[in-house]
Amino acid sequence: MNKDAAFHMGKKLSNWSKDIVVCTNGNQLLNEEQKRSFAKNGIQVMEEKIDELIGENGKLQKIRFSSGEEILREGGLVTVGLKQSSPFAESLGCVMSENGGIKTDGLGRTSIPGIYASGDATISTPSQLIMAAGEGNKVGAMIVSDLIDESFKL
Ligand SMILES: Cc1cc2nc3c(=O)[nH]c(=O)nc-3n(C[C@H](O)[C@H](O)[C@H](O)COP(=O)(O)OP(=O)(O)OC[C@H]3O[C@@H](n4cnc5c(N)ncnc54)[C@H](O)[C@@H]3O)c2cc1C
Repeated sequence: MNKDAAFHMGKKLSNWSKDIVVCTNGNQLLNEEQKRSFAKNGIQVMEEKIDELIGENGKLQKIRFSSGEEILREGGLVTVGLKQSSPFAESLGCVMSENGGIKTDGLGRTSIPGIYASGDATISTPSQLIMAAGEGNKVGAMIVSDLIDESFKL
């Protein structure tokens, strides 16, 4: 997972609720500056290991930490990391980005001429259907354009 994911998620969720607790489940995911920024914005940080998520009918009610402390919560979101399900881009020699996606020039061209990538494979935009579809459309047009340019080369 991206090391700034907890800070990113906490910040974005502050647009939905003013009652946010970021739980890191025993991990050190926030630096001191990020913790101060959260404190300034009323976001609580719990770094203790989580023992149990307690609720009924699929709805979260409380979080119990390893010390036995419990906090009441009405809902929770889990941060997940993305990783490639297939190693083919790496095995073909494509340069990968820091976050594990296939690196492109923003128009779908990878580091290997003739290999293009878009959507979640690039892990460059928020992981959403409309983004993947839009990017696929853009990259498709770029492939056609590159093929035409290639055939006009002398
Ligand atoms: C749990 C979950 C919930 C989500 N909820 C939302 C939501 O509410 N709204 C939203 O907009 N987005 C949501 N997304 C994100 C959205 O699903 C993705 O951003 C989108 O599907 C990306 O499209 P894609 O075509 O890039 O990749 P994918 O849809 O992942 O398509 C890639 C395809 O390639 C196939 N594939 C992989 N490797 C190989 C191989 N070696 N050979 C052949 N085929 C291969 C896979 O089987 C898959 O069918 C969600 C994603 C997840 C995981």
